Amino acid sequence: MESQLWHCSDCGDEREFVQPTCSDGHAESGAECPEWICAECGTAVLVGGAHVVVLPQVRRAA
Ligand SMILES: [Zn+2]
Ligand SMILES: [Zn+2]
Repeated sequence: MESQLWHCSDCGDEREFVQPTCSDGHAESGAECPEWICAECGTAVLVGGAHVVVLPQVRRAA
């Protein structure tokens, strides 16, 4: 299985990340699945040019 070493914010250290079985059809459509999970704690990250992770933390000024 392919794996990458990245810093895991949950583990607070460098960890091995692996790709879980894609259930979103990325592989079927020929694209690379952007989903990776920490092999240690299971934290998921999205990687890839077309995919941008946006956290819904927009605060509207009153
Ligand atoms: Zn981790
Ligand atoms: Zn996928």
